[in-house]
Amino acid sequence: MSGPRPVTYISRSRPTIEGAGVRLKRVFGFHEVPNVDPFLLLDHFGSDDPDDYMAGFPWHPHRGIETVTYVLEGAVEHGDSIGNEGVIGSGDVQWMTAGGGIIHQEMPQRYEGTMRGFQLWVNLPRAEKMMEPRYRDVLAATIPTVKLDDGITVKVIAGEVEGTRGPVEDLVVPVEYIDVTVPPGVLFERTIPLGHKVVAYVFEGGGQFGPEELRVGTEHLVVLGDGGAVEVTASGEGIRFLLASGPPLDEPVAWRGPIVMNTQKELDTAFAQLRAGTFIRKGDDMPIADKYYRR
Ligand code: FE
Repeated sequence: MSGPRPVTYISRSRPTIEGAGVRLKRVFGFHEVPNVDPFLLLDHFGSDDPDDYMAGFPWHPHRGIETVTYVLEGAVEHGDSIGNEGVIGSGDVQWMTAGGGIIHQEMPQRYEGTMRGFQLWVNLPRAEKMMEPRYRDVLAATIPTVKLDDGITVKVIAGEVEGTRGPVEDLVVPVEYIDVTVPPGVLFERTIPLGHKVVAYVFEGGGQFGPEELRVGTEHLVVLGDGGAVEVTASGEGIRFLLASGPPLDEPVAWRGPIVMNTQKELDTAFAQLRAGTFIRKGDDMPIADKYYRR
């Protein structure tokens, strides 16, 4: 089982509309959960037309998950019910643990050029779904870039590469989240602990994945099976991809919109609390978009 990890699934990201009308690409979501546990969702933002993203994600709740926003280029203004507010800019990461409940908004700002970024959802285990919410702003300057042989570079958001640790520590689920750039024709190998799930998302160029050397183009998800090393050989244009891995939770998933729990009863409780205005345990009353009141 410790040979190179085989490719088990490839899919293209799908255009969708989220929030108040943001056009984005869904890399994976509800239907892929058994394959990608402990991850739940990955969205890819990318547009040079502000009309595609300016509507943003006005005040909305989350519970039971962490959301990780990685802005490649652009600026996203945010605020939340535990008192954080500010702007995350190019290269910055926001790691938000909703725990028992947070209400926040995420509003992309008008940007000259192509606004690009990602939002990854990491599930929380049953024992931690109702933990205190917390929020971490990770500035681009604190995210190390590790230079490997043959011109490979790795930005380490969470985890450790060649002794360099990413700035996001003390994670509930010890996931690794890295941004890998490989020059044309070069082989990238990285051993991920046996039993951990691994997903890769190609967002520039393309390459060949796994011992099968399956060709994967840009804007494609690759799920790798269990084993040892992830193997990727960049094609003639090079490749850049996100690589996320972590131990699966193997727990039931009850998911409705921005709330992910273990049982339907827990979802019913959450939405009843939203209607009653008792969803968050502290902080100011926040306006919530009407759609979260409807069943
Ligand atoms: Fe959100």
